Amino acid sequence: MAGEGEWPAIGIDLGTTYSCVAVWQNDRVEIIVNDQGNRTTPSYVAFTDKERLVGDAAKNQVARNPTNSIFDAKRLIGRRFSDSLVQNDINFWPFKVIEGHADKPMIMVTYKDEEKHFAAEEISSMVLKKMREIAEAYLGTIVKNIVVTVPAYFNDSQRKATKDAGGIAGLNVMRIINEPTAAAIAYGLDKANIGRKNVLIFDLGGGTTDVSLLTIDDGTFEVKAVAGDTHLGGEDFDNRMVKHFVEIFKRQHKEDISGNAKALRRLRTACERAKRILSSATETTIEVDSLYKGIDFSSCITRARFAELNMDLFKKSIELVEKSLIDAKMDKRGVHDVVLTGGSSRIPKVQQLLQDFFDGKQLNMSINPDEAVAYGAAVQAANLVGMGNEKVQHIVLLDVTPLSLGVSADGGWMSVVIPRNTIIPTKMEENYTTRFDNQTSVLFPVYEGERVKVVDNNWLGEFRLSPIPAAPKGAADIKVCFEIDANGILSVSAVEKTTGVSYKITITNYKASPSTEEIHRMVEDAEKYEVEDDEHRKKVRAKEALENYAYKMRSIVNDKEIGDKLDAPGKEKIEAAIKHVIHWLDGIQHADVDEFEDKLIGLELICNPIIAKISRQE
Ligand code: ADP
Ligand code: MG
Repeated sequence: MAGEGEWPAIGIDLGTTYSCVAVWQNDRVEIIVNDQGNRTTPSYVAFTDKERLVGDAAKNQVARNPTNSIFDAKRLIGRRFSDSLVQNDINFWPFKVIEGHADKPMIMVTYKDEEKHFAAEEISSMVLKKMREIAEAYLGTIVKNIVVTVPAYFNDSQRKATKDAGGIAGLNVMRIINEPTAAAIAYGLDKANIGRKNVLIFDLGGGTTDVSLLTIDDGTFEVKAVAGDTHLGGEDFDNRMVKHFVEIFKRQHKEDISGNAKALRRLRTACERAKRILSSATETTIEVDSLYKGIDFSSCITRARFAELNMDLFKKSIELVEKSLIDAKMDKRGVHDVVLTGGSSRIPKVQQLLQDFFDGKQLNMSINPDEAVAYGAAVQAANLVGMGNEKVQHIVLLDVTPLSLGVSADGGWMSVVIPRNTIIPTKMEENYTTRFDNQTSVLFPVYEGERVKVVDNNWLGEFRLSPIPAAPKGAADIKVCFEIDANGILSVSAVEKTTGVSYKITITNYKASPSTEEIHRMVEDAEKYEVEDDEHRKKVRAKEALENYAYKMRSIVNDKEIGDKLDAPGKEKIEAAIKHVIHWLDGIQHADVDEFEDKLIGLELICNPIIAKISRQE
């Protein structure tokens, strides 16, 4: 890839709720703080009548602007609108999601008084861009090369859509790696001399649960099995608590707040805070002033009650641990370390269930649950561009594919080509033939999943091999080849061999994933929004400069010592000019950068000579 190595490469943990960016520098990983001084940035994008906000600024205004503040894009990315999980989420989101072309979910917002529709990958691209800006501000250079992490259990279309998000942001996604594998790097990088160890990474985040079982041996990270749920995390726990309090509110006040986006948003914020508190305290109180129809809401919740509300979900996360062990054919006593990561892994009940499952084994909390994934991504980024020390260069990642991939065979059975938990990159082949005499084409629908009938699995796309020479059924010799690259992304090809003629087909487009032209359009839009953001920022700065100057002059004029030295006409002239400018500022709706700058120059031309006169007198 051109350009790699010229610029630093960064690692980005693109989380459902928070994102984190890191870089290898001065012989170690640096977690980069954002403009607010925070080490993680909310994965939020908000649209107002004036501007677009990303990160903390977007999250901070969410109560005022719930329908145009977008979060959870990762829960939508690579999914179909009709997906039951998407449908369920829509009920909880204050923003609107509509059905777009080919069953693609589109997020609908009002931006600068206009209705706009965004794909999840566009929203994610805005978050990625923000993370890149944070890195650029810190490094003082342009950043183009990134490693992005995804849940190990992300399927093919979710991975592809994440890669697209990087492309839309104008970034070069060097590699997509799995979040638990990245966390394993954070855990294992400095443990070169401890011999071969089996490590279970338990990553419970805001939107997803990911379990990876790895063998770490002198810099080689070999994933034995992954299990997960791309729809199980802290936000689901918040949802349960919100539901609980909606009921309590109903009982206390005979009012149903469930249809009110603003009230729900405020309640959710309070619930999330309470949930965090319950990780250290055993009881807390939720208080929301004027929650609905002027009613102040206050209610108590204990850690035990919170655990009870979520017990089935907590147990589900532990079942995933069990599944990964079965897949890896490993006894739980063979696990040397159980490593916790992800914000929700702080929940005491989850920790207890996990510890009980491992017969009381002490859990390993040595890595930072909010930063470990970005840490590992930064190490991998440095490795790919040939930076970093010997340890970094020594790293070998052997990851696996989370879901079986195959084609639909006779009668709608799943004919698996690549079984789940196969080490990637990989290339595997299967032979197929025709079902009818003189058949001249064969359709191959491609699926992923573990069920025996394809209808129960996830349809990825299909291709038709054509023309095949007419022959009796079963005579054709078709070889189908599945290839998964290091990012976990699949491509498929097929060859008909009997005639010596080969056909090669590669699935490049899934129905719900954007076409090349659409991506192109999104890239252009992203650039357009960037320019608009810049203009807006410049305008804000120009306005601020004018305001600051006007108020500074006013305070000088009003200052006893300096003000008294001004002659009366000079003072009046300044006061009139300031009054005029402030009046203008109060009255304007829209103004260009030029107008602000012109006003500033005008004001300076009046004030500066008069002020300069008194300094000369001194
Ligand atoms: P993601 O990577 O999916 O964005 P994170 O790993 O950043 O998720 O974790 C965010 C989740 O962790 C949120 O749901 C947040 O509420 C939850 N969380 C953070 N701190 C705590 C805590 N002390 N107790 C319980 N949950 C927490
Ligand atoms: Mg995470």
